[in-house]
Amino acid sequence: MAKQYDVVVIGSGPAGYVAAIRCAQLGLSTACIEKWLNKEAKTVFGGTCLNVGCIPSKALLDSSHKYVEAQQHMAVHGIKIDKVAMDVPTMIARKDKVVNQLTVGVKGLFTANQVDGIAGQGKLIAKDKVLVTAHDGSQEEITAKYVILASGSVPVDIPPTPIDQETVVDSTGALEFQEVPKRLGVIGAGVIGLELGSVWARLGAEVTVLEALGDFLPAVDRQIAKEALKILSRQGLHIKLGARVTGSKLSKAAKKSITVEYTDAEGDQKVQFDKLIVAVGRRPYTEALLDDSVGIEKDERGFIRVNDQCATNIPNVYAVGDVVRGPMLAHKGMEEGVMVAERLADKKTQVNYDLVPSVIYTHPEIAWVGKNEEELQAAGTEYNVGTFPFAASGRALAANDAEGMVKLIADAKTDRILGCHIIGASAADLLQEMVIAMEFSASAEDIGLTMFSHPALSEALHEAALAANGHAIHIGNRKRRK
Ligand code: FAD
Ligand code: NAD
Repeated sequence: MAKQYDVVVIGSGPAGYVAAIRCAQLGLSTACIEKWLNKEAKTVFGGTCLNVGCIPSKALLDSSHKYVEAQQHMAVHGIKIDKVAMDVPTMIARKDKVVNQLTVGVKGLFTANQVDGIAGQGKLIAKDKVLVTAHDGSQEEITAKYVILASGSVPVDIPPTPIDQETVVDSTGALEFQEVPKRLGVIGAGVIGLELGSVWARLGAEVTVLEALGDFLPAVDRQIAKEALKILSRQGLHIKLGARVTGSKLSKAAKKSITVEYTDAEGDQKVQFDKLIVAVGRRPYTEALLDDSVGIEKDERGFIRVNDQCATNIPNVYAVGDVVRGPMLAHKGMEEGVMVAERLADKKTQVNYDLVPSVIYTHPEIAWVGKNEEELQAAGTEYNVGTFPFAASGRALAANDAEGMVKLIADAKTDRILGCHIIGASAADLLQEMVIAMEFSASAEDIGLTMFSHPALSEALHEAALAANGHAIHIGNRKRRK
């Protein structure tokens, strides 16, 4: 007799495991199928985010930031450090420990919430039937009233630079280097290119980033992107825009290197690297997930087609996270997982897709939510802008970490906050205050009338809000109003 559940979730990344836990909390009998095996060939839950994404990359960003702090930023505080040295294998081992702690944590959450975690490959063979193929090849069928597809995404590779995970790596390989490459190439100046490029640049690699587009971070507010390019270039990232990679040659010498050919405004170019990270985006992953007979529709880019409530074209089958449209972000998938679970329990939950925060975890961090100036101009919306530089923040100066600014945009007629764009230390956490404010439709005046603790980095939000209405206190106002 086939096992029966109310809900079967395929994939235990942030979209899948959160959906499974919430379903179980709401009283639905739930299983979550996962095929991921870690380095020790053990099944682990948590998907890309916990195993090779958000968490390990932030572990390396934090380690490498501490190295830069120790090496460059202690003397000013009067702290003398004679010799700072980097032990890369220890840094990587710490990262693995953090990953292990969190993936074991998800297993514990499954147990606590009575979610059955099932190891193996799941395939939707009918709208209410999933075939599980275990790692030993044995198979079993599971039936479910509802199925949630959460199979995630994988890195895109490009023909000129095939990945060998040794000299040419994707983001996963870039989390495993056992020594600092002398010359590191990165293809793609997107989120991964900048975060992982920063890690290795901080540790001493000469990093060149080749970006096909002529604009730097085109999705980011222009003023913030310009500031980011300036700061990251100063930190040693050589970012070449308008660089189209055309080919590559691996050297046959014992110490491998790769020569990358590209074309830019000045013509054909060649550059040699010891390691190359290819970070040109991710694509939805649906390999061996769907039997054609079920008829799940995908769009032209391979994403499973869903409506605003993450329902597919087949009744009772849902899809969430990176495998569906929208930004490929862990928190977007988590919210979709919660939405679907709650809708199965007859709640009317809806994700607010207008308020998905984005963060690039360089130092300083780059974070934004809502509309930027360019988008508002294109839409013909009139708006006020308030900016506040961290160089005028007492707390940022006290911490000797005062690069960047806050930029707040409010509707000129209603004063409602339309967007917030930050480059600065702790920008991710600061931005969240504005995400909450915007979720409650706050105006710039509301923020201006709110008391902020002093001294705190968040005072920059307060001042930017005041500046939007022409009465910042701790900086001159472009437009002065009463
Ligand atoms: P995934 O996390 O990809 O999980 C899908 C899971 O499904 C996998 O475990 C896979 O093994 C499993 N699976 C697939 N098919 C099957 C099947 N047929 N049967 C069983 N199991 C299956 N996002 C952020 O928001 N913040 C960050 O800081 C951030 N940093 C990142 C850094 C890096 C280097 C990378 C690569 C990504 C980063 N992301 C970040 C993106 C984030 O990791 C993804 O958006 C998120 O993991 C997507 O969640 P998901 O659950 O949709 O899919
Ligand atoms: P991305 O889309 O952020 O950046 C890819 C970059 O590569 C783009 O700038 C693109 O123009 C460039 N590119 C594409 N093809 C190229 C080519 N042939 N030559 C040179 N440049 C080329 O993708 P990513 O950095 O790979 O990240 C993948 C996904 O993972 C993103 O959607 C992102 O949301 C997610 N992610 C998020 C975080 C975070 O939230 N902090 C961190 C890492 C990854």
